[in-house]
Amino acid sequence: MEAKKLTTKEKLQIPPVMMPQQDAHERVHNVNEVPLGYTVDMAQTEAQRCLQCKNAPCVKGCPVEIDIPAFINAILEGRNRESINTIKQTNILPAVCGRVCPQEEQCQKTCVVGKSNKDVAKAVQIGKLERFAADWEMEQGEAEVPVIKASTGKRVAVVGSGPAGLTVAADTRREGHDVTIFEALHKPGGVLIYGIPEFRLPKRIVMREVKNLQKMGVTLRTNYVVGKLSTIDELFDEGFDAVFVATGAGLPLFMHIPGENLNGVYSANEYLTRANLMQAYSFPNTDTPIARAKNVAVFGGGNVAMDSARTALRLGAENVYLVYRRSKKEMPARVEEVEHAEEEGVQMMLLQNPVKILGDQNGWVKEIECIKMELGEPDESGRRRPVAVKGSEFLTPVDVVIVAIGNASNPLVPSTTPDLAVNKWGNIVAAEETLRTSKKGVFAGGDIVLGAATVILAMGQGRKAARAINEYLKTGVW
Ligand code: FAD
Ligand code: SF4
Ligand code: SF4
Repeated sequence: MEAKKLTTKEKLQIPPVMMPQQDAHERVHNVNEVPLGYTVDMAQTEAQRCLQCKNAPCVKGCPVEIDIPAFINAILEGRNRESINTIKQTNILPAVCGRVCPQEEQCQKTCVVGKSNKDVAKAVQIGKLERFAADWEMEQGEAEVPVIKASTGKRVAVVGSGPAGLTVAADTRREGHDVTIFEALHKPGGVLIYGIPEFRLPKRIVMREVKNLQKMGVTLRTNYVVGKLSTIDELFDEGFDAVFVATGAGLPLFMHIPGENLNGVYSANEYLTRANLMQAYSFPNTDTPIARAKNVAVFGGGNVAMDSARTALRLGAENVYLVYRRSKKEMPARVEEVEHAEEEGVQMMLLQNPVKILGDQNGWVKEIECIKMELGEPDESGRRRPVAVKGSEFLTPVDVVIVAIGNASNPLVPSTTPDLAVNKWGNIVAAEETLRTSKKGVFAGGDIVLGAATVILAMGQGRKAARAINEYLKTGVW
């Protein structure tokens, strides 16, 4: 398409290009991806909305500082290869980030077009354009293997294969180091594989990135739990020169209310792992069962809660209630995910808090007791504190409860590495710029350092850690 030169005023008048998506009634009966992607014309129209700002505030809003105006301009001018190469200079997982980044809180929040329209939803759709560029590259076939420098003879162990671990593996391998990823599960990818459902992030995308790393010469050892099969000290004894710990925040938190040990109560992690990783929706064709329920209650208001609720619908539930103690405005989930959940029929029980889970005579969940809440003064997070309304308890019949109120750091590696300092939440303490820990040769990043965070923040830390590891292996200076 010949790009027509538009004035700023004309550009600001173009509405954001909506991405086509699967119809809500159809998609609850399948696990296929919901948003279907931009066509070339759609992407170029959306790219026209970018003002190519000189100071580009959007770039500061992206944790890995992608050159956003440059990649968007390349799309506008039909130079898609250049566009994806620009993105990949700082982000090795653009097809993932374009789909799951909380853009309205990051790059799009600071976009001048959104600000001029006084509505972040009307910002340039940076994430959707990033997905377009990444999907375009996938359609061209196999990705090019990046240049690997001559072997240094140094060995790097990466513990955990989520976005932080994958980033470090790529960036240290490119320097010529010998890299091995140790992963506890039978499939690599971390939350991208076992947590985020297929309908939001097709697994083939993650597997393609893992395959690219293997083509680069990275060794992958699955079913390998560091802290059980080898400790960090034993990895050094085996000849590794540096270790990057990226074991994530996989420890589910519970509400500690009566009835949480009843049959039919799942942590979101277990529920999603059964559904995503073990494909429990195909049971008995697969090995892992999952309780099929008519009425499901999900506790929580974040992305994990939305994923659990939408998965329960796809597993055939007739009523899925999302119980959240604040109002919709305070929900930490991405706006798009809340909208999708509502379109699909998830019933929001807002300003309500579960206080008890009741069981039947066989020990199975029968109903939940909730109390109504109202919003009081803001708390330390800046959000208005929910306060229980006395005497407003009520019962709702359900067969399955999914607790999705958050995750804590995985304790195994710190508990088997005595000289690795952790903070009061059990997160590994690491220097902000170098991600160096208290133990010589050990770096850490992602959720195990940040607490449950985001894909791009985990990758951003991976980037910094890889730079520091490469420097350490070159100079030997700690
Ligand atoms: P993880 O992705 O958690 O990977 C850690 C890996 O380490 C896992 O594979 C684990 O098996 C492995 N491991 C753990 N212990 C050991 C051990 N001892 N030995 C070997 N391997 C080990 N973020 C977003 O940006 N957008 C979203 O939409 C979004 N949705 C989410 C939905 C769900 C259901 C969940 C759970 C999280 C979501 N997040 C989202 C958060 C995001 O996925 C995480 O912040 C990110 O994956 C953290 O990356 P990581 O590399 O630190 O760890
Ligand atoms: Fe925005 Fe995430 Fe892409 Fe950065 S990586 S430009 S924050 S979508
Ligand atoms: Fe384009 Fe918005 Fe970035 Fe300006 S702030 S360069 S309009 S994406």
